[in-house]
Amino acid sequence: MKKILFFLMLAVCACSTPRTVTKGNSIASRMSTRLTKTDRQWNAHLGQINFIDEARGTVGSDIYHALIPDADTYIRSVAREVMQTLYFSPDDSIPQCDILDYILRDDPGISAKGGGGGHINIFYSTRHVERSFRGSDTARVDFETRGVLLHELTHAFQLEPQGIGRYGRSRVVWELIEGMADAVRVAAGGFHGEADRPKGGSYHDGYRYIGYFLNWVRETKDPDFIRKMNRSCLDVVPWSWDMAVQYALGKGYTVDGLWHEYQVAVGDI
Ligand SMILES: [Zn+2]
Repeated sequence: MKKILFFLMLAVCACSTPRTVTKGNSIASRMSTRLTKTDRQWNAHLGQINFIDEARGTVGSDIYHALIPDADTYIRSVAREVMQTLYFSPDDSIPQCDILDYILRDDPGISAKGGGGGHINIFYSTRHVERSFRGSDTARVDFETRGVLLHELTHAFQLEPQGIGRYGRSRVVWELIEGMADAVRVAAGGFHGEADRPKGGSYHDGYRYIGYFLNWVRETKDPDFIRKMNRSCLDVVPWSWDMAVQYALGKGYTVDGLWHEYQVAVGDI
C-alpha cells in the first residue's frame, strides 16, 4: 500500500512538480522579499532563524522550497502578524525568541513547537505539505502553511497564565495556550471561516472551539479583546477565565455567559 501511495505521489509530482508552481501562485509572489519597517520593529523580538531541512529530497521539501524560496523573510512576516494580533505595540512585554530552529521534517504529524527560554524549535511536516498539495493545489499548500505557522509562532510569543500550574498539568492552561494560538490563526484569516468552525461543544474543548469563540468576542465586543486576554496573563494572577474576561471587558461578564451568547449568535443553540 505504501508503495502504491509512493508511486501515486510520484505520478502527481511528475505532472505537477514544484517546477510548475508558477511565480504567480507562490506565497513569495505576494510577499515582498524585503522586510518592511514594521516587520523589522516587531522582529526585534525574534533573533536568529536557523532553517533546517531534514527532509531534503522529499516531494514535500521540493514543494515547500518552490513556494517559499525565502523562508527567513516569510517566517518573520508571519511572526510580525502574530505579534500584532497579540500585542498593542512592539514595546510591550513580549517574550524574546533569541533563536528559532525551523525544521522541515518527514514526519507523520503536522507541526509542533518545542523548546523555551528564548530558544524555540518548530517542525513542519513535509508529508503534510504533500497531503495539502493533493490535486496540485498550490493555493491550499500556501493557505495551510501560513495557518499552521500562525498557530505555532503564537506559542513562541504568547504570554502564559500564572499561578495555576503548567501546561500538561492544568486543563485551564492548556485551554488558553492552544485556544489563543487558534484565535490568532482565526483573527489573521488562517482558517476557512465558517467551514472550519467547530459547531456546538464548549470552550473546554480547546483549540478551534476557543479560537473561534475568542475571535467572535473580538469582532462583536472589543477589537483589542485578544490582546487583552494575552495581557491578562501578566495582570490576572492566579489566572482564571472569569477574571480574565472581566479584566478585558469589564465587570458583569462571565465566560459561561459569553459562551452562551456566542452559541446563540452563531446559531448553534
Ligand atoms: Zn499548539
